[in-house]
Amino acid sequence: MCLKRLDIQGFKSFADRIKLELNPGLTVVVGPNGSGKSNISDAISWCLGEQRASFLRGSRMEDVIFAGSDKRKPVGMAEVTLTLDNANKLFPLPYEEISVSRRLYRSGESEYLINKVPCRLKDIQALFMDTGLGRGAYSLIGQGKVDEILSSRPEERRSVIEEAAGIVKYRHRKEEAERK
Ligand code: ATP
Ligand code: MG
Repeated sequence: MCLKRLDIQGFKSFADRIKLELNPGLTVVVGPNGSGKSNISDAISWCLGEQRASFLRGSRMEDVIFAGSDKRKPVGMAEVTLTLDNANKLFPLPYEEISVSRRLYRSGESEYLINKVPCRLKDIQALFMDTGLGRGAYSLIGQGKVDEILSSRPEERRSVIEEAAGIVKYRHRKEEAERK
């Protein structure tokens, strides 16, 4: 799977729209403390449906919306779009690129979109299940995550392996069918 682009506007320290082109190979983000490096990975997690404000280093979800600075007034909406390459049809959709967007307004209203079409959070979660990029998956390794995996309970470690093996969606469907 290859990330191609990240568009951020009004999210955390990014008041203005920024476009981050991710070329094949390694991308390294460098900058002084507090310049917004971790906010970029937060933007990716958020866009993929992260619901835990604490995981995004905030106390309420509204904390992801640009809160203003000495020179700028706060904004009313945060928006992040992550574009992924789909030339290899890893995602079962007939598009060369898949873009996933999330918006949040100060009113609390929120929106998710896949290729600009409104969808549910559930659709985004289903799309990324077993790809390693979904909620809590192993593609985003934060500080302390390696330790966490090594010292986690066997069931938790098993879920990381199941995601890598691509069987989470089957377990999920089985559980859903059993509930019906
Ligand atoms: P370090 O090198 O210390 O890890 P970093 O480059 O990863 O730093 P971040 O944690 O990404 O820095 O960014 C922190 C900055 O983002 C802080 O200056 C903080 O004020 C700003 N920030 C976070 N949320 C918001 C928000 N909602 N509105 C405005 N600024 C915000
Ligand atoms: Mg950081």
